[in-house]
Amino acid sequence: MADGQHIVILGGGYAGLTAAARIAEADSGVSVTLIDRKKEFVERIRLHEIAAGSEPRDFGYQKFMESRGGGFLRGVISSIDLDQQTLEVEGQSALPWDRLVYALGSHTDTDSVDGVREHAVSLDDMAACKALYNQLHNSPAGTKVLVVGGGLTAFEAACEFAERLPGLDITLAVGTRFAASDKPGGLSHLAVEHLQNVFERLSVKLSVGSRAASLQQGSATFEGGSAQPFDVCLWAAGFSVPELAKQSGLSVNDAGQIKSDYTLASISHPNVLTVGDAAEVVVDPSGRCRMSCAAGRPMGELAAKTVLGPVMSSANDPFSFGYKMRCVSLGREDGLIQFVDVQDRPIEDVWIGARAARWKEYVCQRTLQGIGFEVDVGDPPDTPPAQP
Ligand SMILES: Cc1cc2nc3c(=O)[nH]c(=O)nc-3n(C[C@H](O)[C@H](O)[C@H](O)COP(=O)(O)OP(=O)(O)OC[C@H]3O[C@@H](n4cnc5c(N)ncnc54)[C@H](O)[C@@H]3O)c2cc1C
Repeated sequence: MADGQHIVILGGGYAGLTAAARIAEADSGVSVTLIDRKKEFVERIRLHEIAAGSEPRDFGYQKFMESRGGGFLRGVISSIDLDQQTLEVEGQSALPWDRLVYALGSHTDTDSVDGVREHAVSLDDMAACKALYNQLHNSPAGTKVLVVGGGLTAFEAACEFAERLPGLDITLAVGTRFAASDKPGGLSHLAVEHLQNVFERLSVKLSVGSRAASLQQGSATFEGGSAQPFDVCLWAAGFSVPELAKQSGLSVNDAGQIKSDYTLASISHPNVLTVGDAAEVVVDPSGRCRMSCAAGRPMGELAAKTVLGPVMSSANDPFSFGYKMRCVSLGREDGLIQFVDVQDRPIEDVWIGARAARWKEYVCQRTLQGIGFEVDVGDPPDTPPAQP
């Protein structure tokens, strides 16, 4: 890549904004433009907090990029022409690029189960989360809230609502099983025990045994035929990625994630780098990276190095990533830190309670600081154990 070329970053989430910041900050001679449909960075990992009444902070893209010497364009990216090296932003003329960083992330999968789009809400954008808070806050005692999902996002949302919006009748439908597992992404026995204790303390009812098969107005039907009535249903049962990569002709996996090599370049179009949830990244020692800002942020750092390598005469490092822990908030005063091996398999070592809540808060702040926002992080509240 020669000096003076133009890098376009698609998507200002944890991964894309990290890449955009590092490229803009470097005194490299390349110009960089970030494009996002929103005008500000959204702390997606705190959306359950917004839905329970927290005030969002202002992390505007324009100021952030300009202060680093980069540009920002607000708009919805509707197509990418890989041959002509241009892209379309709705309502604007075609934009040329020399190299792309594709970081369009993911959203809640609301298409795999009938009725979810029509009858459930999800934690995807700020406006929807604020509207959900207003609805829950103004609901009478006993309002039935059904949270569907067997993963960390569903646990976090159910506990946040139960703690901060007392009086709701909350059921957490986790699917076929809720048990310890030593697989990647699984939870240890101690973690499951703590989650059960917290659900009980917060009066979150656990529904285990079958998966939600469809939603209707005011009711979920589960495989096997049982039904669960609700006034509000929060769907938090997995993410899917935008179809733009596939539509554009990039090589993608079955989930629609762009297949990448060790420098995070697309295997079909090496002048497109891919980072975050939208990327299929399989590396040492982690193996396949799961959708997470924990993996996405380091990908953004590496993509910036890959872009800058030729102009800064620096080495083209391979992406390398290993897991350490999963950090879960369970309301504002409680939490769970599940320590894991490098491949994200749980070990029987957890932090729970206030200690875990403090660590989770620290990690959220440190994530912002890592991107480049000026936030108060403070000292680490504790020292994690050495990597197993
Ligand atoms: C409630 C909740 C809690 C979570 N907690 C954690 C956690 O504790 N730890 C963790 O590691 N992960 C957590 N996650 C997952 C994490 O948020 C995602 O994995 C992460 O945000 C992915 O980052 P990203 O940069 O790839 O994409 P995203 O954060 O999804 O950002 C993508 C960006 O692309 C923009 N965009 C998309 N399409 C277009 C388009 N066509 N045109 C223009 N702009 C577009 C979006 O506006 C967005 O800004 C949580 C998720 C949720 C919902």
